[in-house]
Amino acid sequence: MIEVKGLTKKFGATLAVDHLSFDVQPGVVTGFLGPNGAGKSTTMRMILGLDRPTAGEALVNGVPYAKMRTPLRQVGALLDAKDVHGGRSARAHLLALAQSNGLPRSRVGEVVELTGLTDVAKRRVKEFSLGMSQRLGIAAALLGDPGVLMFDEPVNGLDPEGILWIRTFMQYLAGQGRTVLVSSHLMSEMALTADHLVVIGRGRLLADTSTKAFIDEHSKGHVRVRVSEPDRLGEALRSRGVTAEQVDGYLQVTGLSTDEVGHLALQQQVAVLELFEQKSSLEAAFMEMTRGSVEYHAGAPGEAEQQQALEQEQEQEQEQGA
Ligand code: ADP
Repeated sequence: MIEVKGLTKKFGATLAVDHLSFDVQPGVVTGFLGPNGAGKSTTMRMILGLDRPTAGEALVNGVPYAKMRTPLRQVGALLDAKDVHGGRSARAHLLALAQSNGLPRSRVGEVVELTGLTDVAKRRVKEFSLGMSQRLGIAAALLGDPGVLMFDEPVNGLDPEGILWIRTFMQYLAGQGRTVLVSSHLMSEMALTADHLVVIGRGRLLADTSTKAFIDEHSKGHVRVRVSEPDRLGEALRSRGVTAEQVDGYLQVTGLSTDEVGHLALQQQVAVLELFEQKSSLEAAFMEMTRGSVEYHAGAPGEAEQQQALEQEQEQEQEQGA
């Protein structure tokens, strides 16, 4: 497992990671969630010994990365999929990695097959699409057959098919009992992929909880009902101090269950044509939670709104692909 204890990283005046502590358990996918600039990559780099903590420590199976004798057999990571030598074939790239790390050549064929790269293994890496590069990065992470895996924003920029493949593969790896930590800035993606969530903002821990508990707690909803006489039912609800407004041909009721609304409609003798609970979006809950911890770099006015619109677009694409 991974243990992060009081981990802190300063870059000059920037406090990128701020006394962060959490554990990552084996057998489940843990989503490492936070807006851009929250400190996810820096945390992962410190776990991998690529950045030195200003304070605190990160342990993998009880040991700091730098002290591991055969690190690739214990931890595999995909940080930046495009960070490979483009002139080599995928197979040559994996062979070189295996050889320089004392891993058996036979493992190369296994990881190529596992990640579905068999047909393209002889092609040069610079011809690879982003989706294929991500698969290659995952193949490299799996070379040492490690029990702990970390992936930094693996679905960024992928098409729906690529996203679905990564999501399913993460769950498969966790199902084998491995520890899987995967970062993302998209709540909607993590809700579908992760069993557990570690949420950070501005380098600080905001939540460490099961995905189910997070969803239950944060997706407060309302009830929508379509009835024969909305004015009458609306009046009856409001006279009981309940908020009820007409939206898109429905009465939208806040603070009552579907059962309570149904019984009240019966009392008022209005016919119920439709009645359901509507959850508010998880993305909205996530934005609410991280509000104030989002870092807007000096950008043009409206940049934040543009970013938000872009993310919504991505979300919709993902939902269509799911
Ligand atoms: P995330 O992965 O959540 O998007 P990062 O870990 O990349 O966040 O960045 C956290 C903060 O640290 C940001 O403010 C970023 O600009 C800063 N940062 C990251 N790496 C460096 C670096 N090498 N030098 C200076 N600042 C950095």
